[in-house]
Amino acid sequence: MTVHDRTPATVLQAPAPDGPAHLPLRWENGETPFVLWHFDFGGERWVAAHTGDLTADEPMPLRIESACVFGHVLRSAQCDCGYQLEEAMKSFARNGRGLLLYGVDQDARGLGIAAHFAIYAMRQQENLDTDAVYERLDAPVDARSYEPVAAILRHLGVGAVRLLSNNPRREAFLRSRGFTVETEPLEAPLDLHNMSTLMLEKEDLGYRWSFETHADWLEPLQEKVEGSPDRSAACAVVPGKGTADGPLAQVSCGPGEELAHHLADALPSAAGREGTLVVYLTDLPRADELPVYARLGAGAVVVPFAEVPPALRAAARDHGLRLVDWQRRNAYRTDRPQWRLIHRGATADVYVRGDRIRCVAVGPGGDHTAAVPGSDPRDTALERWVRSHALLDGVRTEAGGSPAVRWIEFDATDTGRPTADVAEALSATASPPAAS
Ligand SMILES: [Zn+2]
Repeated sequence: MTVHDRTPATVLQAPAPDGPAHLPLRWENGETPFVLWHFDFGGERWVAAHTGDLTADEPMPLRIESACVFGHVLRSAQCDCGYQLEEAMKSFARNGRGLLLYGVDQDARGLGIAAHFAIYAMRQQENLDTDAVYERLDAPVDARSYEPVAAILRHLGVGAVRLLSNNPRREAFLRSRGFTVETEPLEAPLDLHNMSTLMLEKEDLGYRWSFETHADWLEPLQEKVEGSPDRSAACAVVPGKGTADGPLAQVSCGPGEELAHHLADALPSAAGREGTLVVYLTDLPRADELPVYARLGAGAVVVPFAEVPPALRAAARDHGLRLVDWQRRNAYRTDRPQWRLIHRGATADVYVRGDRIRCVAVGPGGDHTAAVPGSDPRDTALERWVRSHALLDGVRTEAGGSPAVRWIEFDATDTGRPTADVAEALSATASPPAAS
């Protein structure tokens, strides 16, 4: 319930409209005759376009559309506005009956076109999520009033509607104003581009979308690692395909293991699989894991954190992945240590997570795909480099990426020296020695 949903003391009357304009509109199978009106509620402008009998016994099919220059005019892939307008108008044309009410000044859910541009700028240039964006704008996520919609319907003599919408606010509003309302879902296919916008609508505004949101996938995954700060979990899903069968693959692992490779092993072969994957992680990935997720066919990696280190975001982009921050209703109750890149070497990167240290070999181009020379996984350039610092005698290490070792991980406390000292000593060297 918002301020707009309360019954007002006085009923808003529609002003005398401009029109009618009789126009053939091209939506489906040639032209369909439509009647157009323009209503100006003191600067808040609405256009009505209808075809067929407004007051027949059957409820009038109705679509309420808020202006979206990005979606309607420019065909942005990041929202569903273009899809919804097109589907509604096509169905009106096909069935010979329907009414579109278009809120010309309702861009960005009522904030206007300038705010719409500001929102995109903040999202893309400052990587702010939606909550922070609206806080910055000092505006509600949904600022729209539907009072003019009720006034126009009364003016046109429409009392019963079949509302093409998944927005429960619109339905509740029309009922509260005395209209008879039945609803018909109108849902765009979920994809990598529109998923953030549509998921926010479901999580924040209660839209009745059929798909699961990022929080729906992250929460059960996070429960698996709650209270286990050095365990991580991952799952992979095709967005919008439902939870009935669960994720395509789900894995968890502890220290010294390789989460990305476990997920790759657990995933059914790409053959016959449809669509781009989304990978959900309980923790921030390391840069060396990103190419593994990219090779699995992932287009996005979602993590339950509000902020992602800019370098990690850039590394994801280099592999064609979008790193999505989604710490909303699913923030951890206690701090979780994360892998922090503390040193970038010419041939190895050094990460620290709590007391765990992991050295990851990198290729000449700085990527993590080049193999480290050496056929025995326990006697490689990487391991010799780590040992050369006299830090590891008697310290148990895990090594992975055979046949050539690509990483070595150990618990810094086993060295008898503070973790920070060990990490610093390793980082102080430029790189491991060249393979002999
Ligand atoms: Zn839009």
